Parts: sequence; C-alpha cells; structure tokens
Amino acid sequence: MSVINPKHKKMLDELLETCKKHLPAVNESLLTRAFEFSIEAHKNDLRASGEPYFTHPFEVGMIVATEFPLDDITVISALLHDVIEDTDFNIDLIAREFGKEIADIVDGVTKISGIFKGQEITQAENYRKLLLSMVKDVRVILVKFADRLHNMRTLEFVNPEKQRRIAQETLEIYAPFANRFGLGRVKWELEDLSFKYLNNEAYEEIARKIKSNRRERENYIKKFSNPIKEKLDEYNLKFEMVGRPKHLYSIYRKMVRRNKPFEEIYDLFAIRIIIDTPNNFDCYTTLGIVNEIYLPVPDRFKDYISIPKNNNYQSIHTTVIGPDGKLVEVQIRTVKMNEVAEKGVAAHWRYKENKAASEKDLENWVNWIRDIFENASKDEGRKDLLESFRLNLYQDEIYVFTPKGDLKRLPVNSSPVDFAFEIHSKVGFHCIGAKVNGKIVPLDSVLHSGDQVEIITSKNQHPNKSWSKFVVTHHAKNVIKKWINKEEEDIINQGKEIWDKKIKKLKLTFTPTEISKLILNLKYDSIKQFYKSIAQDKVNLDEVLTATKEKEKKDRVPELEFDKFANIARTDIGGILVDGKDSGILYSYAKCCNPIPGDPVIGYITTGEGIKIHRKTCNNLIKISEKDPSKLIGVQWPQSESSLFVGGLSVLGEDSPGILNDLSHAIVSYQNTNIKSININTNDSTFEGNVTMYVQNIEHLNRIIERIKKIKGVYSVERFQSN
Ligand code: MN
Repeated sequence: MSVINPKHKKMLDELLETCKKHLPAVNESLLTRAFEFSIEAHKNDLRASGEPYFTHPFEVGMIVATEFPLDDITVISALLHDVIEDTDFNIDLIAREFGKEIADIVDGVTKISGIFKGQEITQAENYRKLLLSMVKDVRVILVKFADRLHNMRTLEFVNPEKQRRIAQETLEIYAPFANRFGLGRVKWELEDLSFKYLNNEAYEEIARKIKSNRRERENYIKKFSNPIKEKLDEYNLKFEMVGRPKHLYSIYRKMVRRNKPFEEIYDLFAIRIIIDTPNNFDCYTTLGIVNEIYLPVPDRFKDYISIPKNNNYQSIHTTVIGPDGKLVEVQIRTVKMNEVAEKGVAAHWRYKENKAASEKDLENWVNWIRDIFENASKDEGRKDLLESFRLNLYQDEIYVFTPKGDLKRLPVNSSPVDFAFEIHSKVGFHCIGAKVNGKIVPLDSVLHSGDQVEIITSKNQHPNKSWSKFVVTHHAKNVIKKWINKEEEDIINQGKEIWDKKIKKLKLTFTPTEISKLILNLKYDSIKQFYKSIAQDKVNLDEVLTATKEKEKKDRVPELEFDKFANIARTDIGGILVDGKDSGILYSYAKCCNPIPGDPVIGYITTGEGIKIHRKTCNNLIKISEKDPSKLIGVQWPQSESSLFVGGLSVLGEDSPGILNDLSHAIVSYQNTNIKSININTNDSTFEGNVTMYVQNIEHLNRIIERIKKIKGVYSVERFQSN
C-alpha cells in the first residue's frame, strides 16, 4: 500500500485516538489498513468542495466513532463505504482484504445509496420501509446516517437543485429514521441542516433572532440555575447543567403548527440537568430540589424514567415558574440516560456490552428494536432478533419503483407479472415483457428491493397458463386463473359448435351414450376435452366420424346379444309345446320375428326343418301362410298361473351414484319380480344397462317398464328385442 503522508498520519492518529476513547476494543492494524486502502482507492477523486475525496470517508469514520460508537467494524466499514460505488474495486476484494462481515456492511451501504439516486421522494413511509427491507445489519444504517450527516454538513458545495433534493430526502427519510433509532442528536442536526436548504429565509431569520437575545437568555438561565446548583452541591451530587439548545427546525415547526410568532415560542426557557450517578433515584432527589425552589406547573410533569418512551428514552420532564414569572422547562436525567437519548442504538448496545445484560435488559432491547421498525404491534414471535446485530424485518416484502418513481410493495419473489398486476389489472393482462433497471428481463424473473420496473404491454397479449407457475400475488393469481378458465370455456364452446355443425351437415344423430362411447374410444377424459381438441384442430372429425360409422356397423351385433338372451329365456321356460304337448317334434325359432316367451306364437310346418315358431304378428308368416294355411300348427309357451318367463329390458340414462339402486328397486319392489341379471356400462356421464328378470307375462313387463321410466335420469326403457 501507499506510503501515507504526514497529513494522513495526523488524520489516522486522530481517528485511532477517537476510537480508543469511545470503543470497547479496536483492531488497530485492520483499521490502519482500511485507512490506507481508502486513500489508495479514492486517490484520483475530488469532492465537490475541491478537497481530496478521502476526506469524506475519513469524516464518516470519525462521525461513527463519536456519534455511534458501536464497534471498530462499523468504523472500518465507514472508511470503505464509497469504495465500491466510486472506484474500480469490487466487493470480493473487500471481502478478501477485510473479511465478509465488513464486505457485507459496505455492500449494504452501497445498495441503499443506489436506490435513492435521482428519485423524487413522494411516499416517505414506503421509502423508510424500503430502506429497512434492504438492511439486514443495523450497522449498515449507522454508516449510512454518518455518510448522510457528513454530506449534509458539506452540502453548500453542490448545486442548488441537488441541495434541495438531498435536503428533502434527509428531512423525510433519514431524520425520522434517526429518531426511531433514538439518535436524538443526529436527528436534530439533520433536521436543522435540511431546514437551512429547504427554507433558507425562515432558517436565517430564526438563527438571527436566537443570536440577538442570547446574552439576555444566558443571564436569565444563570439566575434560574444558581440556587439549584447550590442545593445540588449540598447534596454532594455530581452534575452538569446545560441550557438546552432549542433547535431551529423544531422552533419553526412549532411556529407553523401553533401559528405563533417566534417570540412566543422561544420565550419558553429550557435547561437540562444531567446527574453523574448510577442511581435513578438521584433524579427524583433533584426533582425535589427543583420543586422546592420553583413552583411546578401541574400538567406539565412527565416521568419517562419509570415509563420509558418506545425508543428507550428516559428522563424526567417538568415545567416550573422561574424568576419574573417565566416558564422554564427542566429535564432531569442520568449520564447514561443522556447518552441513550443522544446516541440511541449505539449507546444502548455499548451498555449492554459493558455490563452483563440482565434478562430484563434483553427483553427491553428486543422490544425497542421491534418498535423501531414498526409500531410494536406486529408480533411474529420473538425471533432471534438479538443474534449479533442482525435484523430480520421486512424480509418478506420488497419495494420496487415504477418508471415514474412511485414505490410499490410486493411480496418477496414477486415477478414483473406481479408488478404489472399491482399497477393495474389491464397492465397485467396485456403484459408482454419487462425492463428491470433498463434491461429487458424474462417475465418470470425475481424482483428485488430497489429495482425499477417498466412493463411493456401489447393489445394482443393475454395471460398465459405458464404465468401461474411463478406469480406470487393473490391478485395476479386470481386474474390469471379466471382468464384461463374463461379461455378454456370459450374454446370448448367453439369445439362444440364445430361438432354440432358437422353432424348436422352429415345428418347424423348421436345419443349421449353414443357420444360417450365415441369419446371413450378416442381416449379423452371428458367431452370438454373432446370439444377442446376439435377447436384446436387436433382431431380429424371426418376421419373420426367415418371410423365411428364403420365401427358402429361392426358393433351392431344386438342380434347376437339378443340371441343369447332369447336362448336363455326359451330354455328357462322349457321350450315350446306343440298342440299343448312336449311332443319331441323338431322345431326352431324363426329369425324374421324372433319370438320370445310372452309373445303369442304360432308354428309353421316346413320341409326338412321341422316346425318354425313365429310370432302371431309376424308379417312374413302372414305372407307365407296365405299360400298354404294348412301348414300352420298351434304352439304354446308352457304356461300356468305360477310359471314365469324371462323378460329383458334395455335402459339408457344419466349416470349417477344411486342409479343402479333405483333401477333394481323399481323392479324388485313390483310384486315378487326377481332379477336374473343386471348389466350396466357407464361412459363418462351416461349408462347403458341390460336387465333380465322373471315376469308373468307381457303386461307384467310393460308395467315394470312404466315404473323404470319414472326414475329420475332415465332417458329410455325398451323391451329387449331384435330389430
Ligand atoms: Mn459517502
């Protein structure tokens, strides 16, 4: 590394000395190396003031060492905080040279700084959350505060436009933040400096007025304090009494809020008594002394020692009537309380380090930190917040910018599509591409806090099924789901239309069962799937319909099935009687009319084939018997009062869980009818069934048919017969 010049040597000594004074431990060699590294890294750069750039990181380091004296790691990180942003060095080098802990802090500071560049602050609260969402280590914020404080102290050297922007940002983001962190002193300084640049006229006027009556005020304070001092000495209390500085910005704010002139606001005198004691009790003793001398104003008393403020601020506030009847505000606190009030998080940590922290202290610490980040209500269980300095808040949210600089809050892992829907449903709907920080990225990219996102839309673009795989916001998920469903429905309807037209043109008809069969054959899960394929032109309808018709022909073997049934029925009843007798004469059933038990029958004597059994109504028989009526012979089904024959029905209907039960119930409940067989085929939503049962006669069968027709969901019931 470079040989440092005498001027640098003096600066280094000053820094080391300050650190040793304020910090529990200092790694001198590491700090020296960081000091030299920073000089080397910034050697070619100048500040707006014309000074070598290195003066800035050095001053930031000094601010950290004095204002936020947490540890040497923070000071070293401060020395290196601008190295990544402004020089050719990268974070890996920092990690190699100074370790991961320091590199992470430097990286954090660099990222935060990047976010605010050139942004107009419109939603301060969101910005503060954005900041927190990016910060995993409280030391990052401390370095950033120090950086901002030094930049504000040297703001006179930049152009007026930048002055305004930086001052605005400081007032709206950093000052409230400093307050939350309990960094009272820094908060005041940031506010006053911002005020100076944002409303210079008012600032100068208030400054002038304060100056003009300073002597007078000092004299009054002296007159007021002297009797108190004497008493405190009597009690052997070590103390410091200061005329509490009134900050310009707070005076201004009170003037505006209460709509009162400077004189009335500033007329209120204020002193602070800081007792050097470990005993809080001494504060109450001091309060007693003050009240003995001056009359207190009853409503103006606050005991923040017994009940500390959310940011752990402790002090007694009282207002008394001083000499000449003027009101004087008095604050009483211990040295430790004063340090916590001014240095917040850092002081608190230090006290915790130095002393063995009690269980109660730890609990307070956890509560305080949590309260810093939100209004104490979000209780997600007491996570290991205390682990080192690590913070783990807002890690489930990210904050990204619109091109106009508006901030949008999104859940972690959000994609540009989520962002698009967050802007407006229409934008999400038609989003076709995205730019993140000026670069085109895939729509499934993961967004990060601080990204600036621009959505490219196209009228022809619509939500895509694949989007649902990566979107995380409920809004985006719902819209995409709805769209996909609607799109699907449209396609199905389209397909159905094509199908209906086609079969109408070909003069075909399909019963629900037939369609179900067809779909099953084509291996579709549902009719919707089938229609969808038609719409998407994935099926050749002509081919399918031709194949179906041919297959139908092949399938059309009801004769066979009927034969089977007829056989059973005829055998079951015991064959036919010729002239009332089982005569052993050869006979067969005519194919033209296929008589089955229950049909009125008649025989026709053939040559060589014995007797043909016809139905009495058979047209064919009527024709042939006209020629030779002598060949007709009476035949009968064996029949008595008790004898039954097998009847068959084919039933078509809607498939439902109870259908089989309904069907069998309708048959069995009718006068001792016994089912011989029941056969149901279901296709998708329809069923087709064949039922055989013992009946007494055709009338009996017909009555059962009527009963079955009444079952809900049954389309048709027919006697099982040949066509
Ligand atoms: Mn800086």
